[in-house]
Amino acid sequence: MGIKEIAGNFLLASYVVTNVYVGIMGIQPLVRKFSQKIESQTHLVGLLETEKEKQNCNKPVFAILNHEHSGGLSGKLKTEKGYLVSLGLDAHDLGDLEHEVFHICSGTVDRGYKSWRFYLFDEPAATLYSLRSLLER
Ligand SMILES: [Zn+2]
Repeated sequence: MGIKEIAGNFLLASYVVTNVYVGIMGIQPLVRKFSQKIESQTHLVGLLETEKEKQNCNKPVFAILNHEHSGGLSGKLKTEKGYLVSLGLDAHDLGDLEHEVFHICSGTVDRGYKSWRFYLFDEPAATLYSLRSLLER
């Protein structure tokens, strides 16, 4: 295989991976648009417990409706044992909650967000999980 052929195959593979990835990433805003809205902190806590049961997850997870950022975030709490889901301004919805709880319960947060595995597997998996949940409702 010559260098041109290798470069050609690499470009083709990059093109396919990029398009699949961009396609999947375009799904989350759609899921958000059609998901049940979360009206209050009490509503959020109830939905969180239901979602943890659905994912068969015993991890200590806290969740808040946040007005200081956009999108959904999840991470480990520094001060106490547990995890936090923070649903930003445009993400007060069940689809974003499912997505972030999936990151926590499937181990994404423990593995960290700064790895190739996150971009190739964990993020698409969380997005497809919330899409599947939406389609099953
Ligand atoms: Zn994500």
